[in-house]
Amino acid sequence: MKKSLLLIGMLGCIINASAQDLETVKKDRYTLNIINKNDQLKDDLKKDLTDAFFNAYPAFARADGYRTKREVNMEISNDYKGTVSASAGTIQINRKWLKKNPKHLESVLQYQLSRNWVSADTIKKDGYSLVFISKDPNLDLNVKKNLIDTYFKIYPVLVAKFNDKSTRDVLFVVDTAYKAVAEASGGRVLFSAGYMKAHPTDIDVVTHETMHIVQGYGYSAGPVWLTEGIADYVRFKYGVDNVGSKWSLPAFSDKQHYTNSYRITARFFEWIDKTQKAGIVDELDKSLRAHTYNDGSWKALTGKTIDELWAAYAANPVI
Ligand SMILES: [Zn+2]
Repeated sequence: MKKSLLLIGMLGCIINASAQDLETVKKDRYTLNIINKNDQLKDDLKKDLTDAFFNAYPAFARADGYRTKREVNMEISNDYKGTVSASAGTIQINRKWLKKNPKHLESVLQYQLSRNWVSADTIKKDGYSLVFISKDPNLDLNVKKNLIDTYFKIYPVLVAKFNDKSTRDVLFVVDTAYKAVAEASGGRVLFSAGYMKAHPTDIDVVTHETMHIVQGYGYSAGPVWLTEGIADYVRFKYGVDNVGSKWSLPAFSDKQHYTNSYRITARFFEWIDKTQKAGIVDELDKSLRAHTYNDGSWKALTGKTIDELWAAYAANPVI
């Protein structure tokens, strides 16, 4: 009996404390928890804090990508030794500094959140825009120029050809912390700084990745090998310098399978296009975007199942 009374007393205390010190603001996909360690914040100061956060954090989160934290704890304390620190999910603010500088918070947050950005450029041309953020102090300026030029050369072509509803605002981020080759999601392409340094001529990574933005199939529209096969087929057809980067479709071998993805699948699509059904990739792309693709799509489009197509390809893989 005594024990449970004590427990209820403690719980009451915790609830009171959190009601006093924690305020949560949700907007778009972001949740801001303002954790105030000392005296209550006045309403106008709270508004300054919230405005500063929602003006500064989303641009950072977009650059940081889909894995970043969208719930952020903002701690305000007299005891915090610095002035402001900010990173994914955590912001600390010195209460005394804040009282004197409420209107400076936004620019300080922006500065803190982008402190490992070496450059951030916005380039606009013919209705298309590209924000280019480099986190690599050693990024070759020629590579940077080629990535940007390829975007403006290829992306509008792919949008016009495959999906006119694609975004016109794309973000490129070159990151030293990212160790794969490149990836695309939500209008953003992330490039590995290390990969681009080792493969400076592989500029048609832009063609493959921006095709992923154009694809925009959403979840469970079709298998990954199909999405990747289409992106490499498009690189094969529209790439600006596949020859210069020594990128080509590999010869057929009986160890291959259409689910191998990428170039192997792309070559298979080229064979289908040339010998079975012209425009197969356009049709597949449309059905994936419309979420009407299924295993029966191959038969409907070509008269053969995918396995029958592959068997015919294996028997005579000339393109
Ligand atoms: Zn891909």
